Amino acid sequence: MFSRHVTKEISAYCHGELSSEESKQFAEHIISCVKCRTKFEEIKLGIKLAEQLPQLSAPDHLWSELEPLLANPQITQIRSTNGGWSWQLKVATAAVLLLVSSLGAWWFYSRSRKELTTKPYWQVTTLDGRPMIGKEGIANNGKLAVGEWLETDGKSKAQIAVGSIGNVDIDENTRVRLLETQPTEHRLELARGKMSARIWAPPRLFFVDTPSAVAADLGCAYTLEVDDQGASKLRVTSGWVALELKDRESIVPAEASCDTQPGIGPGTPYFEDSSAKFRESLKKVDFDPDAATRSAALTLMLEDARTKDTLTLWHLLTRVDDNDRARVYDKMAALYPPPAGVTREGVLQLNEQMLASWRDELKNTWMGINTKVPKKIAEAYWRVKYGLSRRLKEMAPK
Ligand SMILES: [Zn+2]
Repeated sequence: MFSRHVTKEISAYCHGELSSEESKQFAEHIISCVKCRTKFEEIKLGIKLAEQLPQLSAPDHLWSELEPLLANPQITQIRSTNGGWSWQLKVATAAVLLLVSSLGAWWFYSRSRKELTTKPYWQVTTLDGRPMIGKEGIANNGKLAVGEWLETDGKSKAQIAVGSIGNVDIDENTRVRLLETQPTEHRLELARGKMSARIWAPPRLFFVDTPSAVAADLGCAYTLEVDDQGASKLRVTSGWVALELKDRESIVPAEASCDTQPGIGPGTPYFEDSSAKFRESLKKVDFDPDAATRSAALTLMLEDARTKDTLTLWHLLTRVDDNDRARVYDKMAALYPPPAGVTREGVLQLNEQMLASWRDELKNTWMGINTKVPKKIAEAYWRVKYGLSRRLKEMAPK
């Protein structure tokens, strides 16, 4: 995996200037690195704040004060005769820095503004039937503005172009609303029905609100379904998706799913090819109100858990009670021993660093990479697999 920190790439990232491969590596790093993720959230917040600033021109007197300073020949001297920085040079440097940073902020702001005024809506294409935007049926193409609902009946389907970052297919009997589209955040609400998203933007720019959780894109393709009770099901086909509600988060890799319940939030992610007994028991562990039923179901799950099912077990560590946590730990340790520095005692006390370092060790297993092959080959394999599967999906007839 991408092991160095990615804080230097955050800005390029926010502007979608990284290649899709770089974005993917960025996404993977950010999932596991709290440091870079925190920095990314901070910068994103800064950009959002900057977008709300009124646009002002620099006052004329600022220019008339700056010009003589910039013309001053002393600027070209690195040091004055006494060996220290001359005061003129200090002032001039400060002024230039101020100017550069103001220009930078203005450029960033006007660029965001431009994106905003040139793309205040999403383009909708009819795939089948006659989808509705608000109360108007659309024949071929339509525009979905912020706040508007797009609805399909039993005979219609549509595709939404999400700015330049991806697209979303809307199935029959589905209701979605565009909540926000900004350079730093695109947000859709899925009230009911089914949608499939393919997003090639930096992670955490595209969100889908459902009645029971928020899906945060981490660079991926996935389908999301919401039933009439507000429960939802997420299925990831490539990359990663985070499902969130308050402080509960599930990280879901390709070929895994996650169910959510209104009032409870995201359940635990699981691989689609895990045993039926494993999946049925997990439903109880996640959503049954009775503690004894949950604990009995956990026993059945542990019987059937395979190495890659540590995806589920790792998430359960923070969700079950103390006694059950010890059982989950022992099963995990038998399937995939924790790396150096991760102790049973620490995990049982939910030491965040230990949990993160074990997860990082397990990630290759979850992504279907054989960890016995050298890391470089594994990474190359992953790149090819990811690129190919995406290429194929793009080429596939709709
Ligand atoms: Zn990092």
